[in-house]
Amino acid sequence: MENKGCSAEQIKTTLAQIRERVAPSAKNGRVASYIPELAKSDPRDLAVSVTLLDGTTYSVGESNKRFTLQSISKLFSLLIALIDQGPAAVFSVVGKEPTGDPFNSIVKLEMISSHKPLNPMINAGAIAVSSLISGEDVAARLDKILTLLKRMAGNETIAVNRRVYQSERETAHRNRALAYFMKDSGILKGDVEEILDLYFLHCSIEVTTEDLSAIAAVLANNGVHPITGQQLVPAEYARICKSFMVTCGMYNDSGAFAINAGIPAKSGVAGGILAAVPNKLGIGVYSPALNEKGNSLAGALFLEELSKAWNLSIF
Ligand code: GLN
Repeated sequence: MENKGCSAEQIKTTLAQIRERVAPSAKNGRVASYIPELAKSDPRDLAVSVTLLDGTTYSVGESNKRFTLQSISKLFSLLIALIDQGPAAVFSVVGKEPTGDPFNSIVKLEMISSHKPLNPMINAGAIAVSSLISGEDVAARLDKILTLLKRMAGNETIAVNRRVYQSERETAHRNRALAYFMKDSGILKGDVEEILDLYFLHCSIEVTTEDLSAIAAVLANNGVHPITGQQLVPAEYARICKSFMVTCGMYNDSGAFAINAGIPAKSGVAGGILAAVPNKLGIGVYSPALNEKGNSLAGALFLEELSKAWNLSIF
């Protein structure tokens, strides 16, 4: 969709109409409950923000509501690890291939002879990537991720939701299993509990859809902030992120989503989706009722409809 030929009124009308059409589908989904704090979210919420590359943002629904990034944060731990250590070091601990398995699956870690997690968008891969982020302590490493997100979103108030963090930390038995397995096989160097802590903290960073769409617009704009013109992320690393978003961003639903929407996107179990349409716009979605693959049900449908309405598919 080009801004030209599409007035602000038309953009708002399209967003409102799609919201009305897809919102009822949320009743077929369920909010995540394996992290107890997430079970408190309201399944009726459906918020969407779109940021064009001139910096203008349009929103519908509860766009002031905060939710945690969860797996969306895997993009930013990846970016910081790439900036800190470079691609060769990052891809020595994590692969570049989709898994076809659920995001927290353990099965391939043992079966693949290198024991390397297949990609940075699954839990094992993101934990391995987080282990590469340098910094004196966990707080300093987290601060690198937060600083990047604040700059991309243009919002200094972005912070961790401590209740969600504690809730995940106390119940993360499966993530602990993944991490200790990787420690045993030599993929993780360093203190496992510290690495896990950084992972839980970055998953618990809170945003609104307006933050998400602004952040997505930077990725869409090849790492350059659309308003300030600052190169916040090297273009090459923004490209790596968008490639992973296409192949692995929607977990083991990525193939169907590529066909149905054709937009690089990354989802999280709190119900958020960050979508970046290269050289066009950024989108932030929030609707916490998930489908069986762990993606926002109404959120993914919204993106599919918006892609058709504005011809956003990159394929
Ligand atoms: N923090 C969540 C977990 O590790 C993130 C998973 C997700 O959003 N898919 O289980």
